[in-house]
Amino acid sequence: MPVQLADLERDDVGPYSRLSASQVNTYRSCPRLWYYEKVLRFRMPQIPVLFVGRAVEEAVCRVLRESPALIHASAPADAHDPAPLDEQGLPDRSVRDGWPSQRLLPLAEKDIPDSKPALLDWAMSRCEKHLPVALERVRLEWESDERRAGEWSTVDPNRCLEMTKAGLKFHIEEVERCFLAKGGPKIDKWRNGDRPFWPAPDGFAIESFPKGHPFATSGAVTWLECWEISRPWFVDPDAAKFSMNAIHPEHWFQGEYDLVYSWDGTVSIVDLKASLGANDRSGDYVHQLQMYAMLWYITHERKEAVHSLQIWYLGHPSIKDIELPTTDELNHMEEELRTMWVNLKQEKPTRDDCPPEPAPMRGFSPGGKPKQAPKMVRCDRCDWSEVCPAGEGSDEPVLEESLQLAGFSGMTRIDTIGSLNPRASIRGELFSVSLSIGDKPPKLLLQQGHYFANINIISHDHKDGGKTWPNSLKKGDQVLVEDAIFSTNWKGEIVLKIDPFARVILDDSPLDESHDLMAYNARRNVGGRVVYTYQKSGVGRNGKTWRRRGLMLMDHTGAMKIEGWFDDWNNQYEMVETGDVVVLANIGLDAWATETRGDYSRQSRLQIIDRVERSTS
Ligand code: SF4
Repeated sequence: MPVQLADLERDDVGPYSRLSASQVNTYRSCPRLWYYEKVLRFRMPQIPVLFVGRAVEEAVCRVLRESPALIHASAPADAHDPAPLDEQGLPDRSVRDGWPSQRLLPLAEKDIPDSKPALLDWAMSRCEKHLPVALERVRLEWESDERRAGEWSTVDPNRCLEMTKAGLKFHIEEVERCFLAKGGPKIDKWRNGDRPFWPAPDGFAIESFPKGHPFATSGAVTWLECWEISRPWFVDPDAAKFSMNAIHPEHWFQGEYDLVYSWDGTVSIVDLKASLGANDRSGDYVHQLQMYAMLWYITHERKEAVHSLQIWYLGHPSIKDIELPTTDELNHMEEELRTMWVNLKQEKPTRDDCPPEPAPMRGFSPGGKPKQAPKMVRCDRCDWSEVCPAGEGSDEPVLEESLQLAGFSGMTRIDTIGSLNPRASIRGELFSVSLSIGDKPPKLLLQQGHYFANINIISHDHKDGGKTWPNSLKKGDQVLVEDAIFSTNWKGEIVLKIDPFARVILDDSPLDESHDLMAYNARRNVGGRVVYTYQKSGVGRNGKTWRRRGLMLMDHTGAMKIEGWFDDWNNQYEMVETGDVVVLANIGLDAWATETRGDYSRQSRLQIIDRVERSTS
């Protein structure tokens, strides 16, 4: 089965702590790079090409999902409605009626392609309908991304369309193989209407057809039947992101296959790449597919192995066959990856556990063909070379513990990022409780002595299970606000934020530690190197445009994002560049889950202490 969901009773790892092929490849390419991106959460610049690949893959899958018996070549892209989804965003196997393909009238026989060229024409026309819609969707995503970089005008829609069509042409070769094999060994089962537990998405209900497949004939196999029979499994393009993973039975590794062909009784895993395949990453793709072979083998009780692994390079239309690991190699790979998971995910590594030791570069020609490695080191093109000790950065402190800032009367003490704790547990009495309508959390005002704090419940669910507030809270209840994020709002009022790591409980354990509302130091001074700046904007519920900006700051103990309203930043923000040493004084603390963040307000101050050498070009 291409999908293996977590066993919620036994899953003590959780979705955020599993290892993936891309994490393994990042770590192997450079442990420090992995640390920056996965532990400190640096985000690489989001250039259009990263989004284009997703659009091409989506368009390929949307065409594959359609049937030439139901969708005319010239029909609009939305002729096929989304499948019904369950609470987790998966195609809903409990729904039997009302699926999109059940609602479409089959086309007249003369309009159904019945030869390879006719099927090819139909598929090419469908690419032309789906690609522009998918491209526009990702363009909007790119535009709203705070790490947006580059220009969308560099995207060539014709080139994207060619790549989409290349994917479909490869698929039609598979359809032809199926036709020449008279439908393959599963044709009778298919004609009877039998469906696997996870059928390829085709707009029909998941369960088997009680009266045979609606497109089945009884004579020689048709091209339409072969289109249907050979359809590979893929993630339904309307399913929730990452909902259709294959998860290792011990829950520490997961992967999501692109295409899984199985019409001929063997399993072939295909990975789509909207690229030429002419750079170092082509080496990663080989390992990625071999890890998928391991995952398939393990999730099939070590009884079923993959028969073929392929990379379809759509930018230089070619298929690269990947060498299959032996059973011994699959078992060895599993052991190696389990050890890596223990080292990287189960026990959080420190920066010193992740040295700046990049692997040598690999060389590839278009189509992922190995060639001599380029004469360069990985750091030359690394996004983090300005802050990494292998480039212009350093692991050592870049600021004194206290500084005299211009315009400040005394010395300003700088907190290390690693020492910041934005959370506190606060005991008090509920001064007011708003009505909670539906599953909307109530608004709570807490009183502690003469002082008050707003409790802002952002997350309904606590990480350990259960809700983040008890039912039937009322004015006068004694409560403990456990591990709340201690922050202030624009008026300067104290706000205790409740994320999945915090909760409000009735105060029946008076021995639990509680902070004094007024003693908590919610404003801090931090300093270090600027990793990058970013900005974002949008339109609020009131129809007004909002704009925020911020920066990622790193010191010798950690890193944090510091963000504020666009106009609250002083004019030094405009001058800041990656690598500059700065101090941010009087910032508020904020957090989400394990990530500490800073909140820049009008009372805060940004000061550049040391500037990197500016480019003169
Ligand atoms: S600059 Fe070099 S050593 Fe540092 S993270 Fe990048 S690749 Fe790794």
